[in-house]
Amino acid sequence: MQKKDVRNTNREELEAFFKEANEPSFRINQLLEWIWEKGAHGFHDMSNLPLSLRTKLSEAFEFRAIAVNDYQKSEDGTIKNAVLLHDGNVVESVLIPTEKRTTACVSSQVGCSLDCHFCATALLKRMRNLNPDEIFDQVVSIDRQSKEQFNRPLSNIVFMGMGEPLLNYQNVIDAIDKITSPKGLNISPKRITVSTVGLPKMIKKLADDGVKFNLAVSLHSAIDEKRSSIMPINRVNPLTDLLESLQYWYKVTARKVTFEYVVWKGLNDDLEDILALKEFCKRVPSKVNLIEYNAIGDSRFEQADSRVLDEYQRILGREGIVAKIRRSRGKDIDAACGQLANKNSLNT
Ligand code: SAH
Repeated sequence: MQKKDVRNTNREELEAFFKEANEPSFRINQLLEWIWEKGAHGFHDMSNLPLSLRTKLSEAFEFRAIAVNDYQKSEDGTIKNAVLLHDGNVVESVLIPTEKRTTACVSSQVGCSLDCHFCATALLKRMRNLNPDEIFDQVVSIDRQSKEQFNRPLSNIVFMGMGEPLLNYQNVIDAIDKITSPKGLNISPKRITVSTVGLPKMIKKLADDGVKFNLAVSLHSAIDEKRSSIMPINRVNPLTDLLESLQYWYKVTARKVTFEYVVWKGLNDDLEDILALKEFCKRVPSKVNLIEYNAIGDSRFEQADSRVLDEYQRILGREGIVAKIRRSRGKDIDAACGQLANKNSLNT
């Protein structure tokens, strides 16, 4: 019989197991501390549990842990990890060190079911959702890596790796609970950003569920026709619905949304594009990150001139909307936004 992953059990199952094993229930808390506070991947490490209990646990349960057995380091210090999952699938996680921060960029799905034309991950079929512990493990492993390589713990987490986090809603929420809980990694939700293609129903659900992390939406165009032409998901979730859900998000959370926006030559580099974005931003408290395009080998997409970015910044700024120009990191190793496609990893 296949053993169950101990991290996929609920409290009742554990209580039943401990009762059956004649072990006091305070041991459950010790076990959970090892799992979620210390990031243990085996029962042998759990030194405050009696050896007999550790043996019983390992006979009944296992850890389907991730393994990072290959990584690449960029000239700018960015590290891209090939994360091997227990079933042989591979996703990528990225560690991005800057002067002030160390950011973990994590994946939420194996591949992606969306079809954003400018994104390399879109070329991979969506294989499956990641489990909460597989998301949690990416954070633990990057934190360790950050301490080893840069002598500091990670400070921020962004869900901007492979996959659409809001299409793996419950597992992402469960993972973030473990990451932020004092009985987990105790990382403030203020330091976590979930980035979505913009699914109105799920954005409203986030607000209703009272989440405390930040929300980023990949906008790229505030004109329906154009957005639909590069992000097919916009056809079923048009901008009016997106806007309405973001207004709801703000009403409930009082937190500004961040729009991610790439400017491409001949696509969204016109005055009408800038004005449309300005009007969109005026209708919901927001800020804009103008992110550099990372080429994925499709000639339709080419980074716009920097003077267009300046123009975006100037026109938005006049309305009090903060737009920051974000330089890309880890480009030389295909670790930048939209470049995650398991290209150079050993396991593919
Ligand atoms: N599915 C989520 C998170 C993954 S993508 C989302 O859509 O937000 C993280 C960010 O990178 C998104 O803003 C995405 O639009 C952007 N991106 C995708 N491909 C890119 C590329 N080639 N260059 C720059 N940014 C890209």
